[in-house]
Amino acid sequence: MHTKLFIPGPTEVREEVLQAQTHPMIGHRSQAFSELFESVTETLRNLLQTRAEVLIFTSSATGVMEGAMRNLVNRRLLSTINGAFSQRWAQIARANGKEVDTIEVAWGKAVKPEMLAEKLQPGKYEAVLLTHNETSTGVMNPIAELAQVVREKSPDTLILVDAVSSLMGAPIDFDGWGLDVVLASTQKCFALPPGLTVTLVSERALKKAETVEHRGYYFDFLLQRRYYQERHQTPATPAISLLYALQYQLQRIQEETLERRYARHREMAEIARAWARKYFALFAEPGYESPTVTTITNTRGISVKDLNQALAQRGFTLSNGYGKLKEKTFRIGHMGDLTPGELRELLAAINDILNLEA
Ligand SMILES: *Cc1c(COP(=O)(O)O)cnc(C)c1O
Repeated sequence: MHTKLFIPGPTEVREEVLQAQTHPMIGHRSQAFSELFESVTETLRNLLQTRAEVLIFTSSATGVMEGAMRNLVNRRLLSTINGAFSQRWAQIARANGKEVDTIEVAWGKAVKPEMLAEKLQPGKYEAVLLTHNETSTGVMNPIAELAQVVREKSPDTLILVDAVSSLMGAPIDFDGWGLDVVLASTQKCFALPPGLTVTLVSERALKKAETVEHRGYYFDFLLQRRYYQERHQTPATPAISLLYALQYQLQRIQEETLERRYARHREMAEIARAWARKYFALFAEPGYESPTVTTITNTRGISVKDLNQALAQRGFTLSNGYGKLKEKTFRIGHMGDLTPGELRELLAAINDILNLEA
């Protein structure tokens, strides 16, 4: 039986999108490839309405997070942490030999502009690491306001944003907010299989990369850009089948329009929150709840593991709490191509299993 994924990645992939991967193979130095790669890159740039360089890597997002460290930071950066994924950003920076100062906020809370303002000094940090949507806690950080503080307090500091579980599910104004890197892998709000990471990079960041030594090879932003500019290709063999799926999915997104896609995510989030408030409680700080994943505090002390086993019998799966939040919380991913109707089916199944009154 097909188990529908209400987990915050990988998300449910529609049958016709999966089918798009079965296009006959082509060479990655062929004209057909160049046309495919140019088409997806320019469609992304248009959809996201940005002047940013759009680089597409064959990797999950973690690879490009590491790449951003290698390309854009010589020594010191500031990392904001309010959950497991933002914590990993800091770990990645340290693993690449960077000096990392941190702002740490309790899990479930958002990072606030005044916290950044307190810590920033002109010229002290080459970059600030932000996480748009903390997938472990269901909290969305106020990126526009955070970026504004960085711009005011330390204009030369690059603003690097993990938007893995938000890009294509919630608005991001790369140019307007003055961001330098935004990255997202395809298995979350894009609703594609895992394997590609879409990366937006500012001109400013690319200029900085020119001054950084030992950027590495596979994730060298400048090399990737040069191959794109000269021939609409990539330095190494990319995941061609996934690029066909991305091309197809971008057509579907254009037909839906991003505006309606964002509205659909908001509607699903409202349904999930109303249900959570009625039967349990919300984990996220009020006002910062994520539009793509809802983290629910397990106030009834149910076994999340047993609930998921019972849901599997009915063709659904959700996520247990992340790391230390396991069994204390559980998460409903409502991102990608899922619909409010499908989410209501899941919630009805949970009510039935737990004998909750509708
Ligand atoms: C899923 C996720 C990641 C990890 O991405 P991969 O594609 O698995 O490397 C990083 N950050 C956030 C916010 C995520 O949701």
